[in-house]
Amino acid sequence: MDINSLAQPHILKQPVYVTGKPIAYTAREFGLDPESIDKLASNENPFGPSPKGVAAAQDYLKTVNLYPDGGAYDLIGKIAEFRGMKREQIAVGNGSNEILTMLGKVFLGPDCNAVMSQHSFAVYKLTTMAANSTVVEVPMSAPAFKCDLKAMRAAVTDKTRLVFLANPNNPTGSDLTAKEILDFADSLPETCILVMDEAYTEFIEDQAPDFRSRINEGKNIICCRTFSKIYGLAGLRVGYCLARPEIIGLINRVRDPFNVNSIAQAAACAAIDDQEYVNFVREKNKEGLKQLMEGFEKMGLPYVKSQANFISVGGFKDPMDAFQALQRMGTIVRPQPQMGDILRITVGTKEQNERLLKNIKAYLGK
Ligand SMILES: *Cc1c(COP(=O)(O)O)cnc(C)c1O
Repeated sequence: MDINSLAQPHILKQPVYVTGKPIAYTAREFGLDPESIDKLASNENPFGPSPKGVAAAQDYLKTVNLYPDGGAYDLIGKIAEFRGMKREQIAVGNGSNEILTMLGKVFLGPDCNAVMSQHSFAVYKLTTMAANSTVVEVPMSAPAFKCDLKAMRAAVTDKTRLVFLANPNNPTGSDLTAKEILDFADSLPETCILVMDEAYTEFIEDQAPDFRSRINEGKNIICCRTFSKIYGLAGLRVGYCLARPEIIGLINRVRDPFNVNSIAQAAACAAIDDQEYVNFVREKNKEGLKQLMEGFEKMGLPYVKSQANFISVGGFKDPMDAFQALQRMGTIVRPQPQMGDILRITVGTKEQNERLLKNIKAYLGK
């Protein structure tokens, strides 16, 4: 019997998310020394994890015979203090990815839809499809690769439950002003919820919209953050969201009892206390962005102006071929064929960026 005939029909339409290849695979495939490979494909932190986070994680290894704190009491308390919000306004997830999945379970289903921009984080679509709901994808404003908020607002109907928006946006790297986003949020009807994905917000800090007063006023806004990017804890899988207590209550209904493991909870607590490290990474990232943009300009390659820890650069007639060639030279990037002649490149260390620019130059024969 065909097992597919037993599955829910909408699951058969569900695509599989293809993640970047781990360094070890690429090393084996191309006979390279893993140490010599620069992975600039998944917007990971090239400076490593927060050292304080690592120390806390190591300490916790001794007690992994015990279940984690299912209520994440310490971590939620730490986040509450750090963000100036109440415990009841916070939920944690196995990465912010899981928060997005939980939102799909709570708010989406066959009779409604989710609005999102074209060229946005793939998980919005996957979450919506997994909930057997309808994806409403809104074209971007060309040529800047920006989320078109006017068109997104126009796409919202009384069937829309979630509106996904990331700023800076991944994979384009483009961003919108705080005012543009706040006005957009204020224009949405009460029948939908804005899911503000703030995965890269720490990199733009003072220019990001601050939704906390609106959340305090009880607006339908959910702000998601992650420890995967500036905090450098991607492998531990931990993220959180801020929202009004009623929304958090709904999320907790579908949350797995022990969704964030104990090591991740401990590391995230310590990482919050390590803002010195966060500031270090932010500064280094700014330098790296400048280095890459100058390098691209010298080669005459167009790019999307970015403040995130990655950048989209064009001028690659065959981006899959460019990806393969750069990989053989030891730099893993992320091709974005759906965006045309573009590669998405994570900002690395100074040395990694230098090697990347050198390899692109060699590939293009510039
Ligand atoms: C990396 C990223 C996330 C974070 O994912 P985690 O599950 O927390 O690792 C969320 N949204 C966007 C847009 C991202 O790029």
